[in-house]
Amino acid sequence: LSTSRTLWELLSRRADLTPDRPVLLQDDRHLSFGELRGRAERVAAGLYDMGVRPGTVVAWQLPTRLETALLSFALARLGAVQSPVIPFYRDREVGFALRESKAEYFAVPGEWRGFDHTEMARRLGAKGVFEAYDRLPDGDPAVLPPPPSEGTSVRWIYWTSGTTSDPKGVLHTDRSLIAGGSCLAHALHLTASDVGSIAFPYAHIGGPDYMVMLLLYGFPAVMFEHFALPDALKAYRGHGVTVAGGSTAFYSMFLAEQRKQPGTPVVPTLRLLAGGGAPKPPELYHSVVREMGVQLTHGYGMTEVPMITMGSPDDSGENLATTEGRPPEGMEIRIVDRAGTPVPYGVEGEVRLRGEAVCRGYLDAEQTARAFDADGFLVTGDLGRLTPDGHLVLTGRLKDVIIRKGENISAKEIEDLLHRHPAVRDVAVIGLPDTERGERVCAVVERVPGDVSGDGELSLEDVTSYLRSEGLSVHKLPEQLEVVDALPRNDTLRKVLKYRLRERYS
Ligand code: ATP
Ligand code: MG
Repeated sequence: LSTSRTLWELLSRRADLTPDRPVLLQDDRHLSFGELRGRAERVAAGLYDMGVRPGTVVAWQLPTRLETALLSFALARLGAVQSPVIPFYRDREVGFALRESKAEYFAVPGEWRGFDHTEMARRLGAKGVFEAYDRLPDGDPAVLPPPPSEGTSVRWIYWTSGTTSDPKGVLHTDRSLIAGGSCLAHALHLTASDVGSIAFPYAHIGGPDYMVMLLLYGFPAVMFEHFALPDALKAYRGHGVTVAGGSTAFYSMFLAEQRKQPGTPVVPTLRLLAGGGAPKPPELYHSVVREMGVQLTHGYGMTEVPMITMGSPDDSGENLATTEGRPPEGMEIRIVDRAGTPVPYGVEGEVRLRGEAVCRGYLDAEQTARAFDADGFLVTGDLGRLTPDGHLVLTGRLKDVIIRKGENISAKEIEDLLHRHPAVRDVAVIGLPDTERGERVCAVVERVPGDVSGDGELSLEDVTSYLRSEGLSVHKLPEQLEVVDALPRNDTLRKVLKYRLRERYS
């Protein structure tokens, strides 16, 4: 199945094989593979009647629901270009996405979680606004032209998180998404008897990648419109979820739940927590494995390349704790120095990528021109090194290197040490402009709530003496400490928005 040219072909082949097996489960509703194909075809016909044609750009800002999957597959059936937008985004991000993608249609949920999306769409002057929550466009599939026959033209525009600057519109094809999803499934050793979970926004690049896994292996996943723990755990137990995925915050949440009932598994069928997309402290890996008795694999991905490396369940604990795993077959990783020359194993440099799962570029032609090097490798702006056996260790982001008095200081090195401090729940280390030193090091700490150890205050002095006792060299010590209740985060992966912190404390 992984050789399918398009997502629609992949769905059709799966639906021929196991039409009655469930693919998506939500509350007390579900869709089988056959229903997903059959109903998506009717939705495609409804969209066709509205004027959507192959190549028409359709943006959608919809929550994680069965209907959203149906709409997305209907667009894939038509060969339209779809641009998913995270449901929590508001005027600024949505306006940006609509403008940049030049969307001719915009699907919204109407009023959702107390917010009127239709009104926002009108305010933003969106074209072709239609609601796609409970009711979807519907029509007779007889009107449809044949499905797309190739999967190498751009059919997806995804938006980067905007962690380092404005979001970028990333161009994907059906083939790049199928390639990414196949690798993920392979790395995780999935089988037809697994049960997965979609606990992240379906509008995230992980959405189609996850669907590819389900289609390849023919197993179902539970999806959540509102992910809230007690109910989610009930659903996990009820459906016998074996593989649950998410970001670092997701693992921490499970672990906190486990600590309320030590020794009794939170979800008895769960064998694997798998996720990625943001840094994971090694201590968290060890705690999850030790206290929950499940495996944890964590990977490296980005909107441009949804699956780059992934830890494999049969890898050693040391590798799983301290690396992002290995690249799958067909993904080439090159680590280069500042001049773009490849460096040997063990040496840190910028990560560059080439392979079928890599995006075709950005909406903005100038960004695309800068995105690839002379050998066709994607320039990621991430820093890392490869171990001799091919595991990738991420060490930070180029934009996250603090240059103090001409010395490069890795924010991540300091963050990793501070993560072990008992009063620190999370931390972001940033460089702030400094007339004397170029930049100075500032640590922004999110405290463990209710922690009143010591005198209840966390001072710069405490932090620097702790870092010195951990062996950090003096020139890297923070010169400024800010203690906050909550770090600013994005809505998808709860990633810390350092540029906001830089704005705030500069
Ligand atoms: P923007 O490109 O708009 O600044 P962004 O890069 O944060 O935003 P995403 O595509 O959502 O947008 O995130 C990809 C980035 O997340 C990667 O380039 C990398 O820096 C980081 N990342 C992904 N996986 C991991 C991981 N396992 N550990 C650490 N960082 C990770
Ligand atoms: Mg990025």
